[in-house]
Amino acid sequence: MHHAPTISPVSVDSAVVLRVLRALAQHPGLTRAELAARVGTSRPTVSAALRMLEDRGFLEQRVTPDERNIGRPPMRVFLAGSAASSVGLEITRTELHAGMFDIAGRALSQVRAPVRDFEDAALLLDDAASLVRKLLDRYARATAYVLGIGVAIGAPIDHEGHVVHDVSPTQWTHVDLAQELSERLGLPVSVENDANAGALAEHRFGAGRNCADLLYLRVAAGVGAGLILGNRLHRGASGIAGELGHMTIDPRGALCSCGGRGCLETIAGTLALEDELSAVKRAPVEHGWMNPGDRHVRRLLADAGDAVGSAIASAINLLDPGRVVIGGPLADSGAVFFDAIDAAIARDAIPPAAARARVVPGSLGAHASILGAATALISRELEVLVSPAAVA
Ligand SMILES: [Zn+2]
Repeated sequence: MHHAPTISPVSVDSAVVLRVLRALAQHPGLTRAELAARVGTSRPTVSAALRMLEDRGFLEQRVTPDERNIGRPPMRVFLAGSAASSVGLEITRTELHAGMFDIAGRALSQVRAPVRDFEDAALLLDDAASLVRKLLDRYARATAYVLGIGVAIGAPIDHEGHVVHDVSPTQWTHVDLAQELSERLGLPVSVENDANAGALAEHRFGAGRNCADLLYLRVAAGVGAGLILGNRLHRGASGIAGELGHMTIDPRGALCSCGGRGCLETIAGTLALEDELSAVKRAPVEHGWMNPGDRHVRRLLADAGDAVGSAIASAINLLDPGRVVIGGPLADSGAVFFDAIDAAIARDAIPPAAARARVVPGSLGAHASILGAATALISRELEVLVSPAAVA
């Protein structure tokens, strides 16, 4: 059980409003009578909740003309996208990024703040809570109900929402992120791996729509994958599914933070690319260094694409996804990177699966992770499936 939300701009009992939202998210198109029965409280109480939602434009009502019974067809009630919202929060080593989204996935606002000290969890959680509070103060009234906060972080997360372990040891393994943030903000919190969050968002709102089996690869400082199989996120037995970044690509390659050698992350992770580039240029790399007009950059992107494509080929042979979506900064690097990925897949994967799996850049850009984390929280609180939206 989590705390009852403290932020509730409604005069109607907020627990009833939440039950109405849940019922309509799970069963869009109930009649008023069906809704009262399902929520299991008195008709006047449900009516008051519906009136509040309706007055503020959070409901849509439609007459369904295909009713066979005689007389006037009943009015059916649907949730408007603005009926509820949640906050997505991404925690990286350098930045906090938070955004508020309504249940249709529309962004109400986004804010960012630098991380002062990633190793100081208490300080970081205080900063994260005040960043989220800033959003809530300004936008909580934009929707009928704030469901909670979904957090995305670059570490494996188990089925209970705890960090499993971190390949580069930090104290984060021992922090109960969800509980710490929930205590600071008085709202439910769920925690998701950043690549899983990106996969959820691209599957529901972006480049992976209408695709039941999807591989999402987030190529950033680290490399991680999120898997959607049969329209559901696949976490694996202990939550580690999709740790593609530590697949060995070159057994004689560079030493990796995980203790291995030549992992995908050491060849295609942006930190590794920036280190190599600054070594050859004898200068620190500048923001926006991914200019394919530069021959060193071109070679780095081609080699990174080749390694990523090779890893994707193994995943294709294992899982046969219909589509592969690439997110993270390298998704914007252009044709050199994507051509190398396609060539490696054609070379390394089983031909029919290789021919079928289309590799495309994500369409949600830098906010895929926060949108996915916010969506995961909404799905949990409203008990809706992650498959295409049950709300308008
Ligand atoms: Zn590694």
